[in-house]
Amino acid sequence: MLAARAQALTGSQTSGMRNRARKLRSEGIHVVNFAAGELDQDTSPRIKEAVRKAIDAGATQYTDTLGIRQLRERLAAKVTQKTGLEYTPEEVGFTAGAKQALFNAAFVAFEAGDEVIIPAPYWVTFPEQVRLAGATPVFLPTEQNGFQPDVDELARRITPRTRGLILNTPHNPTGVVYPASALEQVARLVLQHELTCIFDECYDELVYPPAAHCNVVKLVPEMKARTVLIGSFSKTYCMAGWRAGFVAAPQPMIKTIADLQSHTASNACNLVQHAALAALEPGNDAFVAGIRQQLSAQRTAALQLVQKLPGVSCVTPAGAFYLFPEVNGLLQKSFAGRRVETVDRLAELLLEHAHLAVVPGSAFGSERHIRISYAIPVEEIIAGLTRLGRFIQLLA
Ligand code: PMP
Repeated sequence: MLAARAQALTGSQTSGMRNRARKLRSEGIHVVNFAAGELDQDTSPRIKEAVRKAIDAGATQYTDTLGIRQLRERLAAKVTQKTGLEYTPEEVGFTAGAKQALFNAAFVAFEAGDEVIIPAPYWVTFPEQVRLAGATPVFLPTEQNGFQPDVDELARRITPRTRGLILNTPHNPTGVVYPASALEQVARLVLQHELTCIFDECYDELVYPPAAHCNVVKLVPEMKARTVLIGSFSKTYCMAGWRAGFVAAPQPMIKTIADLQSHTASNACNLVQHAALAALEPGNDAFVAGIRQQLSAQRTAALQLVQKLPGVSCVTPAGAFYLFPEVNGLLQKSFAGRRVETVDRLAELLLEHAHLAVVPGSAFGSERHIRISYAIPVEEIIAGLTRLGRFIQLLA
């Protein structure tokens, strides 16, 4: 009964590992979960309170597809502040998570015959969404360049069919933050070749000094006409399960996204729109600063331990909450007489024999890395990486 398009679909591998870890936990096994793509923390009480009030006030009906007016005005003000350029409420929209915003953007911007360049490793969903739009992802390897986009390599991949580019900074899975110089050079290519740039800055608030997040439109104002900005409430406000994200783009693109969404999900949950409004109030800034500080300490703890592991090396991440250590040395070794060989097998062995959930790099287009999310308590980080160290000693 399945169409060819559906048969080509693969489920998100990051969700797969999370589900397996959850199952082991339900069996009473202490699994250290380095596979999560979210903070292990509750949403701030102010946001919950705002939703309780919205329920009582009867915010239970359909809204405009891309959100109530007040929220779109607030989002426009936020994007204006991020970019230093005026955005109107007609140039922004609220979605059920950044994932929906990204899907909408890819679906309306790309089509069969188009090529879309994605730096690799990449967040697992980018290429899949490009394929769902009928277009072809073209990967730009970055490992040799410390996971930064190499502009000459990028230029070499641009063909007459290239229609767009998906950038993500701070980056999942590597944690790198793109510096202004690289973004400016990439932006010049986008302008020169009249490409569409999808700019995913879901982790923009989670950057650790001295690194700083750069918004491509702020750096190169002409990019406003060529950029779809994507933001999320999931990470910054510990709201992953609420499904709250947004998109900002030129008005015709936003109008088309509204048309598409009007035939798919309609508006994102009315109550969650009220949650988002509360999240954007200045009173929440302290909550976000606290999250950032806590993640910074978790990052330091995780990095120190990972750097001591034999056969493992790791680029120092400057943002998000992931380490992406290179584990090629471990793949050459054997466990119980059998070569580990692949990162998928390594992740399975770690779950089975060390009760440690990590995501294999293959989910992100790398056969040499694993992703470790450090958004868990420091004690768990220490317990988990100690187990990883012990497991490595069992390899021959
Ligand atoms: N973009 C990136 C780079 C992400 O890592 C994630 C979440 N893992 C998303 C988008 C999706 O975020 P949301 O929960 O808002 O859909």
